[in-house]
Amino acid sequence: MSKVVIVTGGGRGIGAATAKLLGAKGYAVCVNYLANRERADEVVECIIRDGGRAFAHQADVSSEADAIRLFDSTEERFGSVTHLVNNAGILFTQSKLVDIDLERFNQVLKSNVVSCFLCSREAVRRFKSGGAIVNVSSLASQTGSPFEYVDYAASKGAMDTLTKGLSREVAASGIRVNAVRPGFIYTDMHADGGEPKRVDRLAPQIPMQRGGSVEEVANTIVWLLSDEASYVTGSFIDVAGGR
Ligand code: NAP
Repeated sequence: MSKVVIVTGGGRGIGAATAKLLGAKGYAVCVNYLANRERADEVVECIIRDGGRAFAHQADVSSEADAIRLFDSTEERFGSVTHLVNNAGILFTQSKLVDIDLERFNQVLKSNVVSCFLCSREAVRRFKSGGAIVNVSSLASQTGSPFEYVDYAASKGAMDTLTKGLSREVAASGIRVNAVRPGFIYTDMHADGGEPKRVDRLAPQIPMQRGGSVEEVANTIVWLLSDEASYVTGSFIDVAGGR
């Protein structure tokens, strides 16, 4: 059976590196994006140029209707979905919890947790004979990200719990559910938090003395999706240079 994967938030950063690597490994790839169509198209072009199969699909994965549409259009294009990477995520400006308003808190939970719930549910409903899901959590679920984004860290904690619970529900059906917890990775996300050079500032505190690349995270995600990880489920891999 051909391997068909959806990568949410696949147009930029960790998602883009993951989509490209999966395309190179023979997966047919749906590159989901929210707003940045050009970047998603670039990822698709790169995969196709290298002989792979891919298409870009706009969907807000925190919307139930959009998430369903995302799976429908991937199935129309490539047949049954067999793999899923729940990568889409957001954070806002570094703030203490007392300064975070309810609207922001709700938006972070919706974008990071509801999206993971909706896409995981669709995947499990539609997988025909087993499958694999990788959730892109964060080391923040372990540290809590005090003084920066406790809201974001809490959303990743929820994602971890969802990973553990779902993995146990579906293990006997041949579906594996795992998560990666990146540490400080060079992407656009830190600019959204108000500090584009955050990774460089924190590098001296990382045991390996450097931030991580998107390819280093993608390699781990792709391994967890693969048959090489056939006895791995409900597991978490920190990709964080020893933090
Ligand atoms: P990024 O460069 O900011 O990219 C985020 C991606 O998510 C974008 O492609 C964006 O789409 C997409 N997205 C956001 N909300 C969405 C929604 N509602 N529906 C569909 N797509 C949506 O971030 P990144 O650093 O690569 O992060 C990827 C994942 O890794 C996130 O879950 C993040 O929490 C996690 N992570 C990152 C780090 C790090 O140091 N960078 C560390 C730990 C965990 P558009 O391009 O259309 O805007």
